[in-house]
Amino acid sequence: MQGKYDVVAVVLFVEEHSLEIISQTGRKNYVREIVITDQSNEQPVTVSVWNDLSEHDCDRLNNWAAKFQVVGFTSLRTVTRRGFALSSWMSTRIIHDPIGDRANVLKEWTKTTLSTLMDRQARVLKVRYPTNDKVLLTIAKLQLRKAAMLFKIERFWIRITIPNGELDKVNAYTGCSICSKRTTVPVGTPFYCNVCRKSDCVSADRVTFKFEATDDTGTMSFTTFNDDTEKLFGKSASEICSIKNTEDYEAFQYIRYLLQTKPVLVKVGPTLTLSRNNVLQWQFKGLEIEQTTPDTNEKASLQKMDDELHELLDASEEIKYSHNNELAVFYSESESLSQAAEIANSPKKKLRRKLVCVMMMAVVNTPVKSQRKKETSLGSSSAAIPDQP
Ligand SMILES: [Zn+2]
Repeated sequence: MQGKYDVVAVVLFVEEHSLEIISQTGRKNYVREIVITDQSNEQPVTVSVWNDLSEHDCDRLNNWAAKFQVVGFTSLRTVTRRGFALSSWMSTRIIHDPIGDRANVLKEWTKTTLSTLMDRQARVLKVRYPTNDKVLLTIAKLQLRKAAMLFKIERFWIRITIPNGELDKVNAYTGCSICSKRTTVPVGTPFYCNVCRKSDCVSADRVTFKFEATDDTGTMSFTTFNDDTEKLFGKSASEICSIKNTEDYEAFQYIRYLLQTKPVLVKVGPTLTLSRNNVLQWQFKGLEIEQTTPDTNEKASLQKMDDELHELLDASEEIKYSHNNELAVFYSESESLSQAAEIANSPKKKLRRKLVCVMMMAVVNTPVKSQRKKETSLGSSSAAIPDQP
């Protein structure tokens, strides 16, 4: 059912630039997102504004950070693919200074609820421009979060282990290399996938894994899809399929041991059911395998190297900007969020990530460094040798 809606709302955020999207027929489209809110719901709503509207009309809202503006939109369509959102349509107009009762009430409301609006705006900005710092919670704290405290797009991290990983909970099957949809086409064969409709789909080994995660405070159930299962097991999908299909419990024993002992960072977000009935459920959004934590001494020396390298790297613009793709991995969700994350992270943030890599290399190289020191001291003591007969 596709209704058209006229909406009057307060603008919380406007994307800086429009995004170019090329359609399957090669047509260029431009879209820009505006986040709006009103008194009726705590969840801000995103309006995708297309083509002509994404230019001057959006530019006129550029002072969104300085002033809460009341704006009208005519004939918006609803989009439910990613939770509730609105999109402009051919007949949509943006009304910059709407008049009428509803607009007047809203204008009054913005004056009396400034702190609420600022709070909502801050949350939107936090999601649009995330810092590299993960918000780490325990399972218990996560489960205490109330629906009202959250926005659909918020993400948290929990550090978990999987005490009882079972081979029985691994699902190995043949599916599309791009969207993982099940297929009967033999592995390795290119085929037309009628789900993702991409031209370069190949039938491939795919795996999912269902597990109970735990930290000191509680347990949660999750299912990982293909790529995250590979990350979790440290094995490729075809290796995992082979273990599963041959019921190689011995090989799985090692994976099970890793899952039990090596903490994993899991990214979770509320499911979309939140917006329908306000029951809060958590959904798996991605994971990261933690690197072994360096001990305190190592940390101290890493800090020193960090400082030294910081100066060194700061001088080199080239290095600063050569690191764009790392963040894409970090925020690898197929949501527009990754886009925002990419834009939002300043070169300095990227630099820090680079730094960590260099630091790791530096730790590996430490023996060489101390070797060099020894050489120097040897050099100075050999300078004393000529005095001897
Ligand atoms: Zn597919």
